[in-house]
Amino acid sequence: MQEISEAERTRRAQGPGSEGRRRPLRPGEAEGETPLILVVDDNPDNLEIISTRLRFRGYDVATADRGDSAIQQVHESTPDLILLDIMMPDMDGYEVARRIRQEEALPYIPIIVVTARDSTEDKVTGLDAGADDYLTKPINFPELEARVRSMLRIKRLQDQLEEKNRELEQLSISDGLTGLFNHRHMHELLQDEFERSGRTGEALSVVMFDIDHFKKVNDTYGHQAGDGVLQELSDILRETAREIDKLGRYGGEEFMVILPGSDRDAGITFAERVRQHVESQKFDIKADRPLDMTISAGVATYPADPVDGPRRLVHFADRALYSAKNSGRNRVVAYEPGMAED
Ligand code: GH3
Ligand code: MG
Ligand code: MG
Repeated sequence: MQEISEAERTRRAQGPGSEGRRRPLRPGEAEGETPLILVVDDNPDNLEIISTRLRFRGYDVATADRGDSAIQQVHESTPDLILLDIMMPDMDGYEVARRIRQEEALPYIPIIVVTARDSTEDKVTGLDAGADDYLTKPINFPELEARVRSMLRIKRLQDQLEEKNRELEQLSISDGLTGLFNHRHMHELLQDEFERSGRTGEALSVVMFDIDHFKKVNDTYGHQAGDGVLQELSDILRETAREIDKLGRYGGEEFMVILPGSDRDAGITFAERVRQHVESQKFDIKADRPLDMTISAGVATYPADPVDGPRRLVHFADRALYSAKNSGRNRVVAYEPGMAED
């Protein structure tokens, strides 16, 4: 085995991108994140002194000498913290803070305003404009650094909270086994698509799929093998669908697909493609041999089918699926008026 140096070993252990790191991690700081601080001040000397000090402490620093260029920079490379001078020509710091807070697309960025005078009014106006903290000039550097550390801690917690919220939101709309959307979310999506279709006049198709004789898989090979089939089928749906199609596990071994902008023929074509793919696939369920599966599908289309709402559209797709099952399985059937009710 080739000898490697201690430094090289450390570098490799830190993974790609670690070469550029200039300082050790601070307590609580995640690997690979050097906070970026945007310093805004119209006075070049102030910019220089503050940014040199912060760089020396290991932060990445960007600077802006005007309010409008500060806002532009925030959009180009979102900082983790802004140190914002209040007294600037053209656009003062209050206005910069207000504009940044108004932008809903931006993540939360802590803002520390730097006021020249130690007047209560300045601080109040700054905080009301959306700043989180303030410093007074002349700047006391130990205080500046302490406030920067404190604001970055809050920013980190805020980011973690937002990340957790995103994860929870994702979990609340997806099916745990397959990663497709769950039943509830499919109904929400269908409601939206139905309304959109009503406005635009574009066709909308819904396909209900149900695996044929699925119970036999569970009974013969066990529940885990059955789960494997459900996952493989989800992959087939993902491969066959377009970006705009919505894929859901409706329940058990039933799947629902919403096809925006697809008329009846397009809906049938999609369902038929999935059916053929399933028929030709060897399902690898870790049994002694791969398994052959088939699937049945029912298609309903708005506005071709006379429906008054999304629930009715699902009901019609279900009727068509029922008919596909009754007429021999492994087939696609489109809804027709007068199809038998239960
Ligand atoms: P048909 O062709 O008429 O659809 O027959 P089938 O056996 O597929 O239908 P049936 O409704 O009789 O059985 C569905 C089976 O699906 C029964 C149930 O145990 C199984 N099932 C439902 N959810 C899951 C799941 O999450 N995992 C596994 N492994 N099986 C499931
Ligand atoms: Mg079934
Ligand atoms: Mg079923």
